[in-house]
Amino acid sequence: MPVSPSSPDATALYASLRAEIGSIPCINSHSHLLPEAERLATVVDALSLFGHAYPAADLRAAGMTQQLLDEICDVDQPLEARWQRFAPYWSRIRLTGYSRCLRIGFADLLGFDDLRADTVGPLSAALAAHAQPGFYARVLRQRANIRCSVVNMEDLVDVDRALFLPLPRLNRFSMLRTAAQVQAIEADYAASITCLADHVALIDRVCQDWRQAGVAGIKLSQSYHRRMDFSARDAVAAAAVFSDLLRGDYSGLESPAGRLLEDYLVFECCRAAADADLTIQFHQGMRAGNYGGLEGASPAPLTPLLQNFRQARFDLSHAGFPYLREGAVLGKTFPNVYLNMSWIHIISPFGARLDLREWLEMVPTNKIIAFGDDLAHVEAVYGHAQMARDNFAHVLAQMIQERRLSESEAVDVARAAFHDNPAHIYSLDRA
Ligand SMILES: [Zn+2]
Repeated sequence: MPVSPSSPDATALYASLRAEIGSIPCINSHSHLLPEAERLATVVDALSLFGHAYPAADLRAAGMTQQLLDEICDVDQPLEARWQRFAPYWSRIRLTGYSRCLRIGFADLLGFDDLRADTVGPLSAALAAHAQPGFYARVLRQRANIRCSVVNMEDLVDVDRALFLPLPRLNRFSMLRTAAQVQAIEADYAASITCLADHVALIDRVCQDWRQAGVAGIKLSQSYHRRMDFSARDAVAAAAVFSDLLRGDYSGLESPAGRLLEDYLVFECCRAAADADLTIQFHQGMRAGNYGGLEGASPAPLTPLLQNFRQARFDLSHAGFPYLREGAVLGKTFPNVYLNMSWIHIISPFGARLDLREWLEMVPTNKIIAFGDDLAHVEAVYGHAQMARDNFAHVLAQMIQERRLSESEAVDVARAAFHDNPAHIYSLDRA
């Protein structure tokens, strides 16, 4: 008979599975980690970490003003006074996933079981002490067991390839707002762009160059400003809009002409990326910050694009959160769509579990990417990675109890999601 969830057997099963999952090297599919040198050059204390967009958004949603948030995060002001003003808000947000990943980092990496009046000072001192050259390798490799982190960036820049893989964006090529933007691209890429065909040829060249440079793929972030309802557009009409833009006669990205041009360029970016055998990662889900619209979160409007590029690999980063079931239908029915759980273990730790439970009986297991931190500080990245592993262990242990799969099959599923699937999708094991 299956054991009950709270029985000693269930606890032992969870613990054993959790340990096995922890031993699987993880590929971190979506990161914004600061370069280590930049982090070392920044004064960070226990409160300034809350200036990151995610905990900051929780604090703002809990009622903190932007001015108070800025003061709380100002490391030049006395810590004690900042704590006094922070504490009432901390009690409101301490249970959220964004806070939890920090608390796990504080506990496991620095030895402080919580952030309190009596720990905020020593914890800040410990944060300063552990941030020494080489601490990224120690935290990411040795403590978090992260083999490599796919790091988001605008244009391609150098990263420490021992720890990171670059994921440059094609945003500046596809979201055109002014002629000056095109001129900046010309300067940065030593190109001459006199018409849309020149611009598209440059996108091709850039994708081929990035492929040669061994990037993980390309990133597009259109969902921060629009619905993902790209449609195939007429090349002549798009070329006319582009010429108007170069002449300064353009009504902007949000205008009907701007939409037409953007649709055309997103299609061309996907074609060029697929031609270069590069995975296309879309930001696909809720927006960071406060007061964001939800119209870009739904992945269903992507279907014409997904139908058009059947040879491409589409990585839906955040899997359409909160429209995870829409994303799951795409992952289930489109061979070219992968569901990426980046960020969602900390947006909603419990919600991520529920959806993972559904996906595992709905979507082929090669389509699921378990983890992407979407964060900037290693302490939070560490905590987030633990939460992702906790979620997989909970869900898989429950399925073992329900006799859906064996423990060794469960470990195989976790290995695929944490390592093998992203290794394949980002061509990590390419010769
Ligand atoms: Zn991100």
